[in-house]
Amino acid sequence: MRTIIKMDEITKTKKTKQREAILEILKNTKSHPTADEIYQKVRQEIPRISKGTVYRNLKLLAEKGEAIKIDTEGTEARYDARVESHYHFRCDSCGKVFDVDVPVDAELDKKAAQETGFNITHHILEFRGLCSECQKKTIISSRGDKNKKEV
Ligand code: ZN
Ligand code: MN
Repeated sequence: MRTIIKMDEITKTKKTKQREAILEILKNTKSHPTADEIYQKVRQEIPRISKGTVYRNLKLLAEKGEAIKIDTEGTEARYDARVESHYHFRCDSCGKVFDVDVPVDAELDKKAAQETGFNITHHILEFRGLCSECQKKTIISSRGDKNKKEV
């Protein structure tokens, strides 16, 4: 017997496969990649995937609550498959984003709600400064400067 697969079913399977591949990449990294970084990675698996498809799927995953979009003004959005509430650190020098596993402060929501009368559902907190790698670089370059002066 001949199996007839409808065209829209093929399209659906293809779409699901693309979305699953994107989510899998996100789940397997702690780097909080940008959409473009995800695109470069997923291309190795699905060479014909377009940038638009990746962007669209990331938006969809975020809407469905399967991923979160980390947005800060002036920087490219990053994505995270770790969806439970947690804090982030963004390095001022290299721009990398790390998880900060200090407990999420639910009291802060209550305090802010009391202060404003607003219905507060959650808060987003981002720590800033220099990551370990960039701190090392700063130390090395300042040592370099010191040596120059001494010579
Ligand atoms: Zn850094
Ligand atoms: Mn995270």
